Amino acid sequence: MENKGFYNEILTEHNIRPEFKHDLEDADIVLEGVNPSCGDDIFLKLKMDGDVITDGAFIGDGCAISQASADIMLGMVIGKNKDEALAMGEIFMKMIKGEATDEEIDSLEEASALKDIAHMPARVKCAVLGWRTLKEAMGGRE
Ligand code: ZN
Repeated sequence: MENKGFYNEILTEHNIRPEFKHDLEDADIVLEGVNPSCGDDIFLKLKMDGDVITDGAFIGDGCAISQASADIMLGMVIGKNKDEALAMGEIFMKMIKGEATDEEIDSLEEASALKDIAHMPARVKCAVLGWRTLKEAMGGRE
């Protein structure tokens, strides 16, 4: 909790200057992720080389948490293979449920900025939207 200001800064930064919020031509996978309870609506776009995510981006609209979370996620999964990306997603889901260990939270780097969402049930669907869409895009189901 003592780092709350720092975490908010990370989220704000990803909202003001998202690195991956743009169109991606020739994406191999395009999948829409919707969170009706908040109005978040994104299109996740991924380029794949076999199992490896070589590039990614998203477009769409939504609240600050959904947009920051998707932007942070893309920074983490680009360059990773499908299994690695899904494993990160699992840890992220655990963190959001308040079940992750400190070590697991640390491994999420910038995404750990969203750990306090575990105490804000109304925002959980916003925080996991990008990750949920990624999982679906990778062929997994909830
Ligand atoms: Zn939202």
